Amino acid sequence: MCILSAAVLAASCTDKKTASDADFQYTDERFADLQMLRYRVEGFENLSLRQKTLVYYLSEAALTGRDILWDQNGRYNLRIRQLLETVYTDFQGDRESDDFKNFVIYLKRVWFSNGIHHHYGCDKFQPGFSEDFLRSALATIDPAKLPFDVEELFPVIFDPNVLPKRTNQADGEDLVLTSAANYYGPGVTQQEAEDFYLKMKEAAPDPEHPIMFGMNSRLVKENGQLQEKVWHSGGLYGEAIDRIIYWLEKAKTVAENDKQAAVLDRLIEYYRTGDLHTFDTYTIQWVEETEGDVDFTNGFTESYGDPLGMKASWEGIANFKDLAATERTKKLSANAQWFEDNSPVDARFKKKECKGISAKVIVAAMLGGDLYPSTAIGINLPNSNWVRAEHGSKSVTIGNLTDAYNKAAHGNGFQEEFVIDQETRDIINEYGDACDDLHTDLHECLGHGSGKLLPGVDADSLKAYGSTIEEARADLFGLYYVADPKLVELGLTPNADAYKSQYYTYLMNGLMTQLVRIEPGNNIEEAHMRNRALVAHWVLDHADGAVELIQRDGKTYVRINDYPALRNLFGQLLAEIQRVKSEGDFEGARRLVETYAVKVDPALHQEVLARYKALDLAPYKGFINPEYVITEDKDGNITDVQVRYGEAYDHQMLRYSQQYRTLPLVND
Ligand code: ZN
Repeated sequence: MCILSAAVLAASCTDKKTASDADFQYTDERFADLQMLRYRVEGFENLSLRQKTLVYYLSEAALTGRDILWDQNGRYNLRIRQLLETVYTDFQGDRESDDFKNFVIYLKRVWFSNGIHHHYGCDKFQPGFSEDFLRSALATIDPAKLPFDVEELFPVIFDPNVLPKRTNQADGEDLVLTSAANYYGPGVTQQEAEDFYLKMKEAAPDPEHPIMFGMNSRLVKENGQLQEKVWHSGGLYGEAIDRIIYWLEKAKTVAENDKQAAVLDRLIEYYRTGDLHTFDTYTIQWVEETEGDVDFTNGFTESYGDPLGMKASWEGIANFKDLAATERTKKLSANAQWFEDNSPVDARFKKKECKGISAKVIVAAMLGGDLYPSTAIGINLPNSNWVRAEHGSKSVTIGNLTDAYNKAAHGNGFQEEFVIDQETRDIINEYGDACDDLHTDLHECLGHGSGKLLPGVDADSLKAYGSTIEEARADLFGLYYVADPKLVELGLTPNADAYKSQYYTYLMNGLMTQLVRIEPGNNIEEAHMRNRALVAHWVLDHADGAVELIQRDGKTYVRINDYPALRNLFGQLLAEIQRVKSEGDFEGARRLVETYAVKVDPALHQEVLARYKALDLAPYKGFINPEYVITEDKDGNITDVQVRYGEAYDHQMLRYSQQYRTLPLVND
């Protein structure tokens, strides 16, 4: 499972420049509904040469599966990509014409989506150029560069009725027949596919530990018989998989420890055989390997692209532990008992002995397959339910991607529109980033782990309100302590005023700006959003002037008049929420959530949506990868790995199509 970035991030988007940050371009070009961003591989220079080399090999492995995803997203995608790229590089006509400019936008969108359908909405793109233009452009190009039936691709590109949807979820239609995704061969119906896998499941020898049926294959009909074409070395996509194995073998030679080498070994075995029992063993070993700093995901992983939710798209990421964040969380964890003892909650609900947990923040070093260019900011794997139940899962947030989203948001006009005055904006600019990270750390490392249930209270007694109450508890723990002098003493906040940035952005988000993610007329549903609304509206209701919503020139703003009073209010609400949780007070939870967290003021909602729309921000964002440049000695040993930024989007895409071309143009 993955956590997608919110369309809009919390308003605590700030830019705390460091010397090395000054030259870094977080944003790149914008086209259609997309904005390209860059991320920094923070801390790469602090890795050992062996770790850097491991990151490099895993990065190559992460990029090598690109063609697999393109083919999974649609059977014509690899040919269409070749056609479009050839026109892009070789076209001998007017490159300033509207047709060509629209052609370039189309190509950039196709690159972004790894195919001809929108990466999020799944609808086929309608080209902004004519069929005639493409034909005349093709006439200027060496036909030897397009060794396939070009005519066949015209309706696929231009006819809105041909393959209109990549993944169709419309109730009542044959989802398999009407989806363009290439997980099922031509003519396979939904009923046939469902029966096929049902039979497999019923015949499973160990129903307590089922494999992920159908996860790594295309289901096709040959001579009237259904059969799976399994993705493995020697099978479908075998050419690409062999190249991936090549890089994984290399990675094994520089693994950080024996367990990690064994994980790589098992993955290679799975890629060779396609055996899903081996896959389960591999994920168990992967979950249990937590010693190494460097880690990865590589393979058929998420099934969002299959209308039946079985078949997994290929993705890859190379990453390593965020050492700075790990240092922060270590400091908090080491003082967990102090925080518990000094919190404003009733002594009966406190833990006598309290262990902090380390939040696992990672740095993305390379994104590939279904994580590129559009990506998740958090990953929780594996997906197999019984493996999760019996062996656990790895849950990570990708710190440098979140950071890049935040940095990119700086200067987009959001704060100028919604923050009340320059003085407040200055505090947010100066401290917002650091305090936001710190609040997350407090929430994750201490907040969720704090407090206890009274004896005999059922952990599920808050039922549907449980997760909102739990998130509010963790957030309030963070809000209360982010303003504590203890954090200055620990060196985690620079001074006694920094927390104000977090207080302002938190309330602004909870009272106003998070509403941009809600459709007009809807209530707030999602637990984290409900929690923020609960905290912000409860505080506003009890503020007695400490915080207020004011009107200026027909616009609403949050004004904070008394920050210390606000801290007391957060403390009071924390105590009450902890009581609700510890006593399992369902009625108390219901009242808090229904009063403060669900309903939306329609007039304010309307206003916030209009102000946000006027900023004209790109709704979707994706990342351009860095490059790793290696130095080798005369025996071919890697002696240095450098990370480089700044490659242009089109250059990177064209380079990947050359360098990581691993599959034939037709994969039947
Ligand atoms: Zn949480």
